[in-house]
Amino acid sequence: MKEADLTLIHPPTIYDFRERLGIWSPINDLVPSTPIFEMYPLGFASIASYLERQGFYVKIDNIALKMLCKKNFDVEEHLRKIKTKAVGIDLHWLPHVHGAINLAKIFKKWHPEIPIIFGGLSSSYYYHELMKFDYIDFVIRGDSCELPLLKLLNILENGKDYGKVPNLVYKKSDKIVVNPLSYVPRNLDDFSINYSFFLKGLKSMRSLMDFIPYMNFLDKPIMAVLSCKGCKNNCPTCGGSRFAYRNICRRRNIAFKEPEKIVEDILAISSFKSPCFIIGDLLQISRDYGERILELLKKEDIDIPVIFEFFSPPTRLFLDKLSKSIPDFSIEISPESHDEEIRRLQGRCYTNNELTKMIDTALEKGCNRFDIYFIIGLGHQTWNSVMETVRYCEHLLEKFSNDGRIQPFLSPYAPFLDPGSLAFEHPNKYGFIKHCKTLKDHFDLLETAITWRDLLSYETQYLKRSEIVELTYRSAMKLASIKENYGILTQDEKEKILYQINASRKIIKTVDELRAKGLSSQMIREDLEYLNNRIFCGSSELNWSKIGIKEVLKNFGLSLR
Ligand code: SF4
Repeated sequence: MKEADLTLIHPPTIYDFRERLGIWSPINDLVPSTPIFEMYPLGFASIASYLERQGFYVKIDNIALKMLCKKNFDVEEHLRKIKTKAVGIDLHWLPHVHGAINLAKIFKKWHPEIPIIFGGLSSSYYYHELMKFDYIDFVIRGDSCELPLLKLLNILENGKDYGKVPNLVYKKSDKIVVNPLSYVPRNLDDFSINYSFFLKGLKSMRSLMDFIPYMNFLDKPIMAVLSCKGCKNNCPTCGGSRFAYRNICRRRNIAFKEPEKIVEDILAISSFKSPCFIIGDLLQISRDYGERILELLKKEDIDIPVIFEFFSPPTRLFLDKLSKSIPDFSIEISPESHDEEIRRLQGRCYTNNELTKMIDTALEKGCNRFDIYFIIGLGHQTWNSVMETVRYCEHLLEKFSNDGRIQPFLSPYAPFLDPGSLAFEHPNKYGFIKHCKTLKDHFDLLETAITWRDLLSYETQYLKRSEIVELTYRSAMKLASIKENYGILTQDEKEKILYQINASRKIIKTVDELRAKGLSSQMIREDLEYLNNRIFCGSSELNWSKIGIKEVLKNFGLSLR
């Protein structure tokens, strides 16, 4: 096996999730990952592409995915055998803290001389606590690790001064040294992803799992284009908001990718015939910027499905231009609540009237799929309000569901309040009660949790943890019936959802009874019947792809081994 200059490791959320499947939650149902969030961050692809261009050999090692796919996958043995000069572990989203720290500890046990580098937004927030672990050597702060990593890899090879690496946190004579967070790129033009890097890599890699980003990728491939870093909005629960980016990453302006570069990325993805998801609202910077991208796309013959996200409804004119540039387009928007006041407090200032007008126009212009995301567990949201949101979903389906293109989703917000978000820093002001503050608090929660209810790091002023859970079940059952009525779910799919909800309820009830008897967490885990499927979405609901991975590979002249 060729030694890598850098191996980027993606951890599962909970290191020993295979021994405690009762913890699987409905929160993942709105992303392509499974409940252990095995999809590695897009930043890995950007870092790998950037460093490869500079002559480094970078490997991505999705340990979460390997643990998920191979029941007997021996993590320790795998980490022992890794040949690399340095290891990068992502701790971008905080729910990965348990997996990330455990993997770092095991890796260091076998390779005490190989440096371990942490990065990502959560690492940037909790860098000081992370550096107290003996087995973590470096943290790179900020939202762009590419250049600091390049400098660090060069220094690791040539033995110069770590003080010259921007954004780096390191140890010197047992002291933690924090370099200034001075590298905050103004645009993303240097960070094009070499999409072919991953598929070409198949030939030299040992297995398919060395490159696929998430488990269902084989059935439902989708690739993403990152249009920006930072956000102009300040949604209180978002760790990627303007407030959070400014405090964690010292980012004062949004970094955008030039329209030409975005189109280049879409063209690269289209050569694989994979659907393409554009991350970030193209209208954030200005209408001109978004329209320029559409103009450029119009000149190309893009025949893949392209999914656009909007933070607020665009104009009719923009949707018209979009439809003329991309024949196969879909849209995502997250009003979060049907209640305009709760939505406003969540940072989204548009009315239901504006939303329905947008849906109407998008469908009229040929939008293939229109996904609308609502959330349970927001500040200022009551039980009745969530049930009203379910009724609003029914209303939308009644109004627009003549051909099944509208897809409303409803899911709990997240297991943890995002560190650095407004709600995390000022919970009372935004209607939250925060139960975890430090990195250790969050680690311990993941270490001891038995059910997904135990994982919630917060409650709201109106909803306790147990109420968020029960409300999630009730609203999901109601929404499943509504979706069956409108032909979005088959009767079998609905029945499966109801069955799984009942099973999940039983698990929580059993855990409560066993806890009341004074049983330890380990004993309770051993007593449980495990759930291991998605709970609230039908199996086909998140699928944009009309083709499978075999065809994607064929388009690149490769075949599955
Ligand atoms: S949730 Fe709000 S703040 Fe966060 S990225 Fe989306 S629009 Fe921006």
